[in-house]
Amino acid sequence: MPYSESDDTANKIPDEFYSMNTGAPFDKCLDCERNLLEPGVFYVIEKAIRQYPNFTAKDVLFECAICLNCAERIKNELSKESLKSMVTYYESKVLYSPHMKQSPVLSKCVVSGKPKEELLNYQINALCEGENLSDLQAPYLVSGEVVEEMSDLLSDETRDFLEDYQNQHMGPPEWLEDIPSGGKFVLI
Ligand SMILES: [Zn+2]
Repeated sequence: MPYSESDDTANKIPDEFYSMNTGAPFDKCLDCERNLLEPGVFYVIEKAIRQYPNFTAKDVLFECAICLNCAERIKNELSKESLKSMVTYYESKVLYSPHMKQSPVLSKCVVSGKPKEELLNYQINALCEGENLSDLQAPYLVSGEVVEEMSDLLSDETRDFLEDYQNQHMGPPEWLEDIPSGGKFVLI
């Protein structure tokens, strides 16, 4: 019996990366609206989650799927210094490399190592190709505190740019007056 079938299901996008709005996998790039589910289309899914101690309910602070062409274009808009300090920070601190296939990186912050249960806010990130997770990088989780630290490294200009982008494309949830720590879009 060919075992490629079980391989296929192992690589399927887990439903925690599905769109909250549709309950189905993201199918359109947030920016250029291209179809993401075609084979060979690479894209990232980023979701910011707030959870409450002792409650199972969670809020999605924002969620998006962006094709790599658009992600690259956004990165080109950021100041070089901002990008460099973010990459340096991340690379010097990351504990578990998301490049390790199947690494257990959705149960704790890849930077601080704090277990997911102890976090109030966190972001999860997956590199996908068409209907599947990409082999190139395992999905990973970053705590809200770390996102906040990374955001602090950005120049005012870059932070404004990302905030505008987030407001324009994702809109702040209406029930949310202030985007709390960890709900910031930093394009990790
Ligand atoms: Zn796009």
